[in-house]
Amino acid sequence: MNKPVIDFEQLFQSLPGLYLILSPDLTILSSSEAYNFASMTKRDEIIGKNLFHVFPDNSEDLTADGVSNLSASLQSVLKNKKPHTMAIQKYDIRRPDGVFEVRYWSPVNIPFLAQNNEVACIIHRVQDVTEFVIIQSQQQEAEQLTRGLQTKLSEMEIEIITRAKEIQKLNTELEAKVATRTATLQQSKIELEAQAKKLQTQNKELEQFAYIASHDLQEPLRTLISFASLFEEEFKGKLNGDADTYLNFIIQSSKRMQQLVHGLLDYSRIGKEASLKPVDCNKIINEVMDDMAASINESAAKISVQQLPQLTGNPTEIRQLFQNLLSNALKFRKKDISPQINLTAEQQTGNWLFSIKDNGIGIAEADKDKIFTIFKRLHNRDEYEGTGIGLSHCRKIVEQHGGNIWIDSQPGLGSTFYFTISDQS
Ligand code: ADP
Repeated sequence: MNKPVIDFEQLFQSLPGLYLILSPDLTILSSSEAYNFASMTKRDEIIGKNLFHVFPDNSEDLTADGVSNLSASLQSVLKNKKPHTMAIQKYDIRRPDGVFEVRYWSPVNIPFLAQNNEVACIIHRVQDVTEFVIIQSQQQEAEQLTRGLQTKLSEMEIEIITRAKEIQKLNTELEAKVATRTATLQQSKIELEAQAKKLQTQNKELEQFAYIASHDLQEPLRTLISFASLFEEEFKGKLNGDADTYLNFIIQSSKRMQQLVHGLLDYSRIGKEASLKPVDCNKIINEVMDDMAASINESAAKISVQQLPQLTGNPTEIRQLFQNLLSNALKFRKKDISPQINLTAEQQTGNWLFSIKDNGIGIAEADKDKIFTIFKRLHNRDEYEGTGIGLSHCRKIVEQHGGNIWIDSQPGLGSTFYFTISDQS
């Protein structure tokens, strides 16, 4: 059988592996098609050219060392005449357009010895492991990332646990503080309530005392006054020296004491009568003005009254309230001008605001609160007659009707008394 004629050059070029044949001076003598395909070169463009001229290092990769590694390997093959397997190399390939593409190669250089045992050429075989390396490095990166994430997660877990513990501790402390504060507040509330109750009881006892005392004083006072009057009738002008004057003092003082006792009794009675009725303030003020017609005429007072509301309250007390304020406005007038008095009422949320304005003597800032205290007077009786009871009555009446009373005044410039009365009282 005849041996088939084989073109070994053709055969070499068709080998499925990636091969180059290099001369000892590293000129490319031949290449497999697979090599040209992988290195993006054309055979006729590389044959006869120096290996490193065709495959230089990637100038953009500062760490590129493919040329020097390959050169060292080839030199060792030439010197030792033994194959040399290189570690995987990053040896980027220059595309026809000049741009480098990342490539990883696994090269082996095998000497082909001539009969004289000299290196005739070098078989340079490579395997393109780019994909493998990239996948591996991606895997490594992913693993590194996972490891990093895991570390981060553990750190975060520790951080979260630490923070949760801190928050829990703060919460416990806060809860303890709140509990202490609540207990203290509760205690204060109980104490305040107890105090308020005690005060209420004391107030009631005092009022009871004032009521009983003033009530019980009436009888001996009446007896004193009537016997003193009888005594005066019988003996006036018949006794020696100053006896008449002394007797007169006794009668006047007793009468005054009777007035005070009456006032006190009235004061302690305010609010005792619980029955509330509709009260027409217009009607009440007209009646009060009728009762006071003599002093109004005598002082030539001008009184203007706005339309007043209808309220629910104690008619006797409201009448007394208007009477006290109006009579004070007339009484504390200036000597040289006739009194000018204006009465107004204005509805507010939940109550009515009344005002009684006069052009009288006015009062000093320091006395504004004092005048609502029982028996407190700013003048002696020679100047202005009175008991110092009227305004304390007013205050108690107003408070019994869910309101307040206050004064706006300046000495010499008149006064305005304001009071509110709840429209639900
Ligand atoms: P009284 O009128 O019997 O003195 P009140 O309790 O009514 O007692 O008044 C207390 C004091 O308030 C009065 O003595 C007076 O000094 C002062 N006062 C009351 N109303 C007026 C007013 N309209 N103008 C100036 N002072 C007043």
